Amino acid sequence: MERDDRGLRAGGDVVLRSLINRLRGVRTARARDAQQLALDLTAPPHTAAELLARLQTLGLRNVRTAVLTRNRSVMVSLVDGTLRVHRAYLAAPERVHRAIVRFLMSARRADRLAARRVLLAFPVDDGDRRAPRAPERTHPDDERMVATLAEWHARYNAERFHGALQRVTVRISRRMRARLGHYAPAQQGRAAEIALSRRHLRRHGFAEALETLLHEMVHQWQDEQGHPLGHDRRFREKARDVGIGGRARRVVD
Ligand SMILES: [Zn+2]
Repeated sequence: MERDDRGLRAGGDVVLRSLINRLRGVRTARARDAQQLALDLTAPPHTAAELLARLQTLGLRNVRTAVLTRNRSVMVSLVDGTLRVHRAYLAAPERVHRAIVRFLMSARRADRLAARRVLLAFPVDDGDRRAPRAPERTHPDDERMVATLAEWHARYNAERFHGALQRVTVRISRRMRARLGHYAPAQQGRAAEIALSRRHLRRHGFAEALETLLHEMVHQWQDEQGHPLGHDRRFREKARDVGIGGRARRVVD
């Protein structure tokens, strides 16, 4: 009996509420507006500033501005208070936004690496419909130089990085023109690699190329430590640490 009673009361309550709502048509419309506004606050950010604000509510600190990029090789980077982030992350779920914050803020390497796995697992469509270029292979004439550079990588790793770095593919690029070298993190099934420009080797000589190799090894160190790639304070400190002169004589990527 008692249960039935309660059921009845509950039912009556529902009817009553819908009746009142109908009588207060204007007020419910206003309530709907408020509800929509609340929904908008959780809608995906559309601009760099909105994304930055979202990340700040999730705990991001010490970032002044954010810039959206389409550059797949750097998904998230932080240089001198400017966050560069791939525009695909605008539409990412909160879980991924939280991972960006952890990647940038966490003091623990394991946390940063875990966060980076989340970031890299998020599918990115950069709108580039051209067929991806086939990976470049080292020209047979460059094989000996590649072997020499691999030896230098091992030597520098032992002498200057306390053996902390993993062995990585070092190759010589005949495509690379503007840049002297690059470090590419592992992605889409391809292993991490360091590439040096053949033109750089020929024009500037072996000693300078070795300096470029060291520069790229600092990027490798950043990557393996789970830090964002970039020429930030951490990069500069490590570069000094391993004996690269204060500033590069040439622009190195
Ligand atoms: Zn660099």
